[in-house]
Amino acid sequence: MSREPEIPAAATEAAAEALRHLWWLRDSGVREVSTERPAGERAPQAVPAEAAPAGTARAASPAPALAIAPATGGGYARSDKGCGSEALLAIRAELGECTRCKLHGGRTHLVFGVGNPSTSLVFVGEGPGADEDQQGEPFVGRAGQLLTKMIEAMGFARSEVYIANVVKCRPPGNRDPEPDEIEACEPFLKAQIAAIRPRVIVALGRFAVQTLLQDTTPISRQRGRWREYEGVKLMPTFHPAYLLRNPAEKKPAWEDLQLVMKEFGKSLPPR
Ligand code: URA
Repeated sequence: MSREPEIPAAATEAAAEALRHLWWLRDSGVREVSTERPAGERAPQAVPAEAAPAGTARAASPAPALAIAPATGGGYARSDKGCGSEALLAIRAELGECTRCKLHGGRTHLVFGVGNPSTSLVFVGEGPGADEDQQGEPFVGRAGQLLTKMIEAMGFARSEVYIANVVKCRPPGNRDPEPDEIEACEPFLKAQIAAIRPRVIVALGRFAVQTLLQDTTPISRQRGRWREYEGVKLMPTFHPAYLLRNPAEKKPAWEDLQLVMKEFGKSLPPR
């Protein structure tokens, strides 16, 4: 009787993890996945049996690199802001020159995101303001400068994390984004998070928290308590623009960020 070759537990878990990731991408709106290797990317090398750590599988032949193909190409590049991986680039291409909601009419730039595509830490804000609309990058105005200081005080560089918003186009006069605008845009935020798969999300303000957690409890009652979004730890805290208007709330917001620092084993900066 022939025996099935034994599959190491690590290989089974890796396959299950890959499958979970593909389902997550699909549920987040990514439409197309290709096994074509991106131009210029080298094939992964098979691990010789003698070099493989105990319990890992030896690849019989080089595994195909899995890349998410941009649905349309669309003239975007990985060097564009927030597009630094194939998966993020595919999401940007799917978004395209978006006209899915009325915000498109007033925008100068669609503000997709910015930062490290393989970061463990993602910050989610509400939507671009005037400076962000002009520069095509999230959180570059006054609130952005405060956010950058907060990130640095936590012991990270801004370029080490990823920053995105619930809506990608500026609401006129910086009004709140409306439900239909959030509904049109949220699949792209969720796809970005799925593509990055961070360890922690910091949700800045009520729109980020409500969109990701579907919880309309006021942010003042949600902040500072760990929540979970799709298996990722999520810390709700105040939005930096709110902190600029209410400086007394900076202290509790800093306490929230210290919980995130603790999660990453970061110690407090010297006073
Ligand atoms: N406020 C936000 O929520 N996002 C930005 O990008 C800028 C200000």
